[in-house]
Amino acid sequence: MSGTDTRDSVMRGVGIGRATTVGPVLRMPEPVADPVDTPSELEPAAEFERATTSLAATAAQLRERGEKAGGTAAEVLDALAMMAEDPALAADVQHRTEDGATAEFAVHAAMATFRDMLVGMGGYLGERAGDLDDVARRAIAHLQGLPAPGVPDSPEPFVLVARDLAPADTATLDLDLVLALVTTDGGPTSHTAILAREKGITAVVGAAEASALRDGDIVLVDAENGTVELDPAQERIDLALQRTQTLEAIRAQSSGPGRLADGHAVPLLANIGSVDSAREAAARGAEGVGLFRTEVLFLGAEKAPSVDDQAATYREVFSHFADQKVVVRVLDAGADKPLAFLTDSGEENPALGRRGLRALAAHEHVLRDQLTALAQATADSEAFVQVMAPMVSTAAEAQYFCDLAHELGIEVAGVMVEVPSCAILADHVAPRVDFMSIGTNDLTQYVFAADRLLGTVANLQNPWHPAVLRLIEQVGAAGREHDVPVGICGEAAADPLLAVVLVGLGATSLSMSSSAIADVRAELALHTLDDARRLAALAVSAESAEAARQAVLDAAPTHP
Ligand code: PEP
Ligand code: MG
Repeated sequence: MSGTDTRDSVMRGVGIGRATTVGPVLRMPEPVADPVDTPSELEPAAEFERATTSLAATAAQLRERGEKAGGTAAEVLDALAMMAEDPALAADVQHRTEDGATAEFAVHAAMATFRDMLVGMGGYLGERAGDLDDVARRAIAHLQGLPAPGVPDSPEPFVLVARDLAPADTATLDLDLVLALVTTDGGPTSHTAILAREKGITAVVGAAEASALRDGDIVLVDAENGTVELDPAQERIDLALQRTQTLEAIRAQSSGPGRLADGHAVPLLANIGSVDSAREAAARGAEGVGLFRTEVLFLGAEKAPSVDDQAATYREVFSHFADQKVVVRVLDAGADKPLAFLTDSGEENPALGRRGLRALAAHEHVLRDQLTALAQATADSEAFVQVMAPMVSTAAEAQYFCDLAHELGIEVAGVMVEVPSCAILADHVAPRVDFMSIGTNDLTQYVFAADRLLGTVANLQNPWHPAVLRLIEQVGAAGREHDVPVGICGEAAADPLLAVVLVGLGATSLSMSSSAIADVRAELALHTLDDARRLAALAVSAESAEAARQAVLDAAPTHP
């Protein structure tokens, strides 16, 4: 770093995984704001000319990206380019510029009308309506002389620095070129963090000071310590690479089912959200699926999917897990995962709104259809399918869901414990369900009243905190008392040492991004059940997340 550079040389955030990577920064442009309707100062013809030029440039940009990406991405991007060139859209833009609108506003408003029309058509076209927003933002950025939104193009590998990644950004991310991800916003359960875990990409999220990084800066991204170092010294780089090699060697030696050192079985399951991730999880040696996030399949859909369409997708997922458990979560719509057909977009505080099971109960036909599709797909498969409901707050809700699932032909039904009330009432919930599965991401968010997507409060989103661990302990105790299995399916299960603590607190299985399974398996094999319980007792009695982790690290000398 030069003598005049006043930026911090070490920036702190929350690390995902344990690896370390070094490389040059490439920043993702800031999102483009929606234009406001101010009167144009130009002649209508000149505004129309600006609009058509930007739409043509956007189509060309999209096609160029598509050609580089190839495969299905090329088809998707070509379809977007065609939307930008649509003559009906151009006619609408012209009409609006003639009425005095700026090119920016005319493009924005015409696209919105086009979008509503596609939604009205339903089916595949309806599902693609959201893509128009992406085309509009690109055209508006072009008009304003701003860089195109989304992941930037680069022929060379880079460390991507962004505010946070949206699900749409991740679709066009060329993983061969991304050395690491650094975000200024977004906590350890943000989309970026989930993607990083799923794909095994080194990441540090919620590093607010990283907003000072510039294209071309060389950074060392150290996930284990949650730091981003600007212009690292060569010895730091050598040390980090050595540690990464050691971790890789441990990972390569780990195989088979999850067990503690005394042979106590802890099934290691995968969190999945698509047919592709199901295939990947099976290839990575997952012993089944502990969380199938079905809402991910329908994020762009404007209408509820049909029973037949759902059953076909579920069959494909189940086909990868013959004789293994697959825990399917019914649609968890709302907050960070809105679904147009379930979510009330007018809520002021959607994380506390009618989301998860609350939304499904209010649209019971959607829930019934999904359970029916799951029962049909289960009947045709050799997987042991179980279902669970998200965002359950009371014992009565748990009873409602499990009764309905049983009525519709699914034998094993349980609930996620991710609202503190459900954990506090676990002794009343347990007798009403076949299993419980703790979602540590939302549980932590609600225990601390700290938005899991917000970088400024990411320091509170830490499942090592005894406030979270004590609730998990209560759920574990209720599970043991009522002989009900207690899984963990939040991101906490992917932290190897924390996974040991969770088993000590009573977790009977762990579900995580499949890329984390090898590390967790290797760590579990170093500790007996007695060790795990001893470490758990140290963690729950600590005062803070940092103290809990340190106490466990100090008492677990075999930790590599
Ligand atoms: C959780 O909240 O911990 C969880 C697993 O669900 P999601 O991350 O999909 O909200
Ligand atoms: Mg959740």
